[in-house]
Amino acid sequence: MTVAPTVPFHVPHTARHQAEYMSSALVSGDLDGNGDYSARASALIQRITGAGQVLLTPSCTAALEIAALLLDLAPGDEVVMPSFTFAPTASAFALRGAVPVFVDCHPETLNLDEKALEEAITERTRAIIAVHYAGVACEMDEIMRIAERHGIPVLEDNAHGLGASYRDRPLGSIGRLAAQSFHATKNVHSAKGGALLVNDDGMVDRATIIRDRGTNRHQYFLGQVDKYRWVDLGSSYILPELLAALLAAQLEEHDAVQRQRRAVWYRYHEGLAEWAGDQRVQLPAVPADRVHSAHLYHLVLPEPADRAAFLNHLRARGVTATIHFVPLHNSPAGQRYGRTVPGGCPITEHVADRLVRLPLHTGLTPAQVEQVVDAVVSFRTSESRGSQP
Ligand SMILES: *Cc1c(COP(=O)(O)O)cnc(C)c1O
Repeated sequence: MTVAPTVPFHVPHTARHQAEYMSSALVSGDLDGNGDYSARASALIQRITGAGQVLLTPSCTAALEIAALLLDLAPGDEVVMPSFTFAPTASAFALRGAVPVFVDCHPETLNLDEKALEEAITERTRAIIAVHYAGVACEMDEIMRIAERHGIPVLEDNAHGLGASYRDRPLGSIGRLAAQSFHATKNVHSAKGGALLVNDDGMVDRATIIRDRGTNRHQYFLGQVDKYRWVDLGSSYILPELLAALLAAQLEEHDAVQRQRRAVWYRYHEGLAEWAGDQRVQLPAVPADRVHSAHLYHLVLPEPADRAAFLNHLRARGVTATIHFVPLHNSPAGQRYGRTVPGGCPITEHVADRLVRLPLHTGLTPAQVEQVVDAVVSFRTSESRGSQP
């Protein structure tokens, strides 16, 4: 049989004006960051998220590190988060000596299980990190209620969720702080990039200082002080203008990117529904009160052995798929620096052994999307094979 050319798992989005903006930033000589393109990108992020203040950073990881400094985390402090997330969600806080406390995920949304949250909180808890997996919002009302009852700030790791919402509130605007990623693997990108969203006015000045190497250089430029000095802890966390130019071009196309990604997402969802029911495969669940960001399309197979067979099956049909999120609670650094709630994270382990992500990006042609659907629905899980005569 002839195999169609391989469908790539991910191709970073290309925005029409990106090269032009980058070259214009380059010739302007204003390369430091905080220039016109940074202002443009920040305004677009602000419009999408409704956040109080947007500070561009070189990565989501950097935004999380700024948050850890802003929250004055010290050794022994605890930060509650899901185990089912990416390493920097925990590492940014462990860098300050804080202890990541890992809780299990909800079996359907794969988000931090709000029912497991309360028992993870101690008198050392200083923050709760809500990671909106796949850009489907966490159960934010309940999480905010618990956080308020204990007087603990909530930070949204919204790396997946730009443009998504929870009960008509955009993600990134609900927690006191939020972190965005514009890494090349995300919906829109600046090769590497991120943003810290600050929804507490009282934190903006200090966040600006931490982002600028711990100096009050920004106040100096505003003419508020006659020289700038080292005034706080900080690091070099400003996004270069060249990448802000790329980001501005990408963000200008955010609506179109979302339309294209949603079309692919819903084609998969509809095309795979019957097969998934027959094969006992779990498809993504989006509660009715949330709009998701179509950041990824994932399947949870019945057994770990099915996953290896499924990935081979797809590869033979020219489709590249991947696994996702190796849990943090039983990872080497998670064991060294973190703590897991009693009862562990059994759902996280179950899902992490069975989950597969399908290709989802703006480079997919309609024919490639059908190639993926056809490849998936021709797979039989071990359970269904076993039950056949
Ligand atoms: C991608 C990602 C990050 C890190 O983003 P960078 O911009 O690469 O630092 C953090 N958290 C989650 C959930 C992610 O998916």
